[in-house]
Amino acid sequence: MATLIVKCTTRCNSNCIYCEAIHAKHVCKDMSLQLLEMVFARIDEYLRAGSERTVTFTWHGGEPLLLGADYYRAARDVQDRLCADTKPRIRHCMQSNLTLLNEQFIAPLKQLGLTSFGSSYGPELHVRGFGANRDSIAYNRALFRGAAIAERNGMGWGFIYVVTKQSLADPIGLFNLLANLRPGQSFSMNPVIVTDERNRDLAITPAEYADFLGALFPYWLRHRDRFSEVQPFESYYQNIVHGKRHLGCVDSGQCHGHHLNIDPDGGLSQCGRSEERGIMNWGSIIDTSIDEALARGREAMSGRVDVLRDGECRGCGAFSICHGGCPIDSFLSWSDYAHKSHWCETRKRFLKQYFLPAVGVEMAV
Ligand code: SF4
Ligand code: SF4
Repeated sequence: MATLIVKCTTRCNSNCIYCEAIHAKHVCKDMSLQLLEMVFARIDEYLRAGSERTVTFTWHGGEPLLLGADYYRAARDVQDRLCADTKPRIRHCMQSNLTLLNEQFIAPLKQLGLTSFGSSYGPELHVRGFGANRDSIAYNRALFRGAAIAERNGMGWGFIYVVTKQSLADPIGLFNLLANLRPGQSFSMNPVIVTDERNRDLAITPAEYADFLGALFPYWLRHRDRFSEVQPFESYYQNIVHGKRHLGCVDSGQCHGHHLNIDPDGGLSQCGRSEERGIMNWGSIIDTSIDEALARGREAMSGRVDVLRDGECRGCGAFSICHGGCPIDSFLSWSDYAHKSHWCETRKRFLKQYFLPAVGVEMAV
């Protein structure tokens, strides 16, 4: 299975304070339809090489809806033409702020095969929003208008809530607000990654993030039937209590075998985060197949998991659900991939102090 993050544009109509794409100071660019054809041709080539293979195609940006409904009509036609036999094995999703979604997008997106959106929401003022002053009231109004259009048309949506210093004041109040936006709504609480020193006051430490999760975990556990799709809790619960292995990229220790980011010029990198940092470059979609790019990632990361298991993570009971975390964290601190992530502290503290006592499981972490 390959997960492609296709950055069809670097433009965005919003100005979220924590957005790595905005702070990466990219030139505004859209992916041409000619290059998009190349992407679909590569997908067809990849899928034809194995009948068990699937592709998750994540439309990403910037804000993908800025390209307009005609772009997605053209994409649908390209897919129909170049992936006529393989398109049932392509699953589409889109990372969008939803503020531009209108009825004109629905038919082409559905015909393309898109069934759900991932978005970003938070109630704080002037963190996400339009313009220099980040008009978050107008942003949230437009987001919920778009979400209602998605729901009306039978399309799902979930969101990421970015945990910042402001989130620490009243975790339960905040959680209730997020969880009650819509019954059964899935959402994920991720720590802010501050890349612009001017926003340093939003940053949280690994210990603060662990304590934030710890303040919420007993509450979530008591009401799990209502809040089942809240991450990272559900993932911890499934993996540790039920022994199921559903690991996201950061925990899997194998992102390099599956993930690939394609920028608007066709540049290939491990993921959006690595592309924005200018690392893990695996060539161009123009002269590199998906298999070749994934192999370059595998080669660059080969041995990392073994080195960590026998070294920095030796004896840690959480290894099978963590694998040392994201290799980019290692690279940013050490200029190589052979170290564990600094978010190790969050994992150990949350598990030891909050999760394991609450669920009654013993584990050496
Ligand atoms: S490098 Fe890190 S963020 Fe990127 S896909 Fe791998 S684990 Fe995920
Ligand atoms: S919690 Fe820390 S020591 Fe344990 S596997 Fe993860 S990174 Fe390694």
